[in-house]
Amino acid sequence: MIHHRHMQGVDYYQLLEFVGPTHPADIMLPKLTAGQLACNSGWLCPKYWSPASNRIVLSMHLNVIKAGSEIVIVDCGVGNFKRRPPSPSQDNLNTPVLDWLRAIDCPPERVNHVVMTHLHGDHVGWNTVRQGDRWVPTFPNATYYFPEVDWNHFSKRFFSGVLDPKGSFEDSILPIACADRMKLINGGDEIAGLLTGIAAPGHTPGQLVYTMSAGDETCLFAADTMHHPIQVMYPHVSSRACEDGETAHRTRVSILQLAADTGCDVLPAHYFGTKGWRITRSPAGFDLEIPANEF
Ligand SMILES: [Zn+2]
Repeated sequence: MIHHRHMQGVDYYQLLEFVGPTHPADIMLPKLTAGQLACNSGWLCPKYWSPASNRIVLSMHLNVIKAGSEIVIVDCGVGNFKRRPPSPSQDNLNTPVLDWLRAIDCPPERVNHVVMTHLHGDHVGWNTVRQGDRWVPTFPNATYYFPEVDWNHFSKRFFSGVLDPKGSFEDSILPIACADRMKLINGGDEIAGLLTGIAAPGHTPGQLVYTMSAGDETCLFAADTMHHPIQVMYPHVSSRACEDGETAHRTRVSILQLAADTGCDVLPAHYFGTKGWRITRSPAGFDLEIPANEF
């Protein structure tokens, strides 16, 4: 599925591999209580939470930004034919992402920049495609930008023999380095004159979020600082996938403060929709406004 938003000088597309109630709420957000979910059910159901299965709704997608001759992809989803037995919903997918890219006039060979927020398996999948028994860069002419702190963290882990539980370092990250297409980046770095990175550690040590301005609109690609809108109300709730929950909490609060202060459109990595969330301050912390009837 393709979602599209036009901004001044920029076309932004979301290419959805899938969206659905895939993750058990009590496992994915262990500090969230059943009571907190229940008292928010009016706006959570059914779009963001399925009470019958107690699963939260997440999407897996790629963000594609087209501005003149620049084509930038922010995060690369799960990818095709990647074996991910620990995550049944992500195992061995076969979705028409390459056809969608051609449909929006962004064929793989024309993509210039592929930008990672962090190096978890559900963000790096389309970095590579299978060619025979090898994995090769999907975007042969692109520079791939990896957060330097994450590269150091995950490569050290991999090369010291620590289990690569999803196999994503080996099939989606290492082939990019071996093909000499990798560039390491840090907070403050700019990409293609469009994106500026901001350090957002906690979910992974080196996670970066990115701001993008187009005319008088500013988007914040907020990565996995928030997996679910309920975390705006309860910022202390980190996900099970966060490597350092306390740091992730502090980062989440700082991102929410930034969003409230600037009025930017917040686009977390697992939220489906191109308009983004608006964050305001409330007596209890933060409030959330999600655009009505976008889909
Ligand atoms: Zn993720």
